[in-house]
Amino acid sequence: MPRVVVVSNAAPPGFIDDLYAAVGHAAVVTDPDLALRYRFDRAGTVEPGSPVAVVRPASTAEVASVVRVAAAHGIAIITRGAGTGLSGGSAARDGALTLSLDRMRSIHIDRESMLAVVQPGALNAEVKREAAANGLWYPPDPSSFEICSIGGNLATNAGGLCCVRYGVTTDYVAALEVVLADARVVRLGGRTVKDVAGLDLKRLFVGSEGALGVITEATLRLRPPQPPVATIAATFDDVSAAGSAVCAVVGALRPSALELMDAGAIRAVEAVRSVGLGDAEAVLLAQVRVEGDDRGTVVRAFEAAGATYVASTDDADEGELLMGARRMAIPCVERLGSVMIEDVGVPIPRIPDLLAAVRGISHRAGIAVPVIGHAGDGNFHPLVTFDAADRDAADRAQAVFDEIMRAALALGGTITGEHGVGRLKSHLLADQLGPDVMDLTRRIKAALDPNGLLNPGTWI
Ligand SMILES: Cc1cc2nc3c(=O)[nH]c(=O)nc-3n(C[C@H](O)[C@H](O)[C@H](O)COP(=O)(O)OP(=O)(O)OC[C@H]3O[C@@H](n4cnc5c(N)ncnc54)[C@H](O)[C@@H]3O)c2cc1C
Repeated sequence: MPRVVVVSNAAPPGFIDDLYAAVGHAAVVTDPDLALRYRFDRAGTVEPGSPVAVVRPASTAEVASVVRVAAAHGIAIITRGAGTGLSGGSAARDGALTLSLDRMRSIHIDRESMLAVVQPGALNAEVKREAAANGLWYPPDPSSFEICSIGGNLATNAGGLCCVRYGVTTDYVAALEVVLADARVVRLGGRTVKDVAGLDLKRLFVGSEGALGVITEATLRLRPPQPPVATIAATFDDVSAAGSAVCAVVGALRPSALELMDAGAIRAVEAVRSVGLGDAEAVLLAQVRVEGDDRGTVVRAFEAAGATYVASTDDADEGELLMGARRMAIPCVERLGSVMIEDVGVPIPRIPDLLAAVRGISHRAGIAVPVIGHAGDGNFHPLVTFDAADRDAADRAQAVFDEIMRAALALGGTITGEHGVGRLKSHLLADQLGPDVMDLTRRIKAALDPNGLLNPGTWI
């Protein structure tokens, strides 16, 4: 695959030549088909545009050169990791340059300091593997860990299954290298365990969705390997009862994972790979340390909340089969039709209310909305299904999507727990943040990217 793919002839005069000069002439293709795979992310309902070009730099210096060229020509930049995002953040835009980091993949483990120095294009799974080869562990584990990049994880502050106990991406960031909109390269943070010199600006860039700068390197904290876990599966004949069980567990201990699938999600998974989850209204999957009585605490909480069946295993493969089924849920539901993937979060005590609200919205609209979620974090993914060929159905799905976000806000929650605002949710961000925080957000954006060239359309 060439380093520069010219997609359309809409580029201003001299822009493509300047790009060649920035990252080398090597191989240039003018075939838009070749660039197709760089146009979409996984938010199926965000229609991507046609970028003027796709550029794949190999170093921080090349990224800075690309940003300098784009800024000089007034061309917007859409930064792209692996394109697994679910909010339209890395989908191409008409007339913008897509800056793909998929060639920047080096990983260096510093065992003594328990740090990994990683380029943004490395996949999460590759970092996990390198850490494990050195007897260490990189915990953040989005369900997409085998296909998403560390740069994308940082830019969305990705969560995952084990985050309920071990925290999210930002908790593992020691330092970042960022190329700013004016092409300066800054290093934020360091290699020490503690550091309070100046503002903690690295955290400003974690979760900034490519709108404040391009992350070109990260120094990530590693941990000793995770202790062995037991996996507990429980079925419920009422999804709100499963929600109450989650509240009881999280009130008693921090599980290593606590995931939920409702009936619609279970059926979709079982249709692809039968793991014996049956015809329950909801399933909870918990993982806890084998040591001590955490398993007993969880089993008792599940039973007290009305579980119809509870089983547990210490066998790592059986546990992985169950957790793997949960990770498969989004692609399995996507086989049934088009899906708008929600990502709402609520405070723990409001989980049963959110699950009941989603049920009600789904019934009233007559639209199937299977629900999965990182239940222990109060973070759920109602999957709004519809027939994309039917314009009315798409509009009704959008209305349901918005209603679920509003329900989460009414419960004191958030419109996005881990996928980001992107283009899919920017119209409701002000409803969550309010005018003063939106103003502050805009002023920070204007200070760092005065010409609005980085990921325009994200947040604002
Ligand atoms: C089946 C499935 C399951 C998923 N499960 C989870 C889950 O459990 N938890 C979770 O959090 N997410 C999940 N996701 C969503 C997605 O995988 C994450 O958001 C992931 O972090 C995106 O990484 P990416 O490399 O694909 O980023 P992309 O989609 O390429 O980009 C995402 C955003 O990050 C920006 N960006 C990317 N790289 C950089 C960079 N180097 N510098 C600045 N900005 C950058 C982009 O501009 C865009 O705004 C899932 C997705 C799928 C398809």
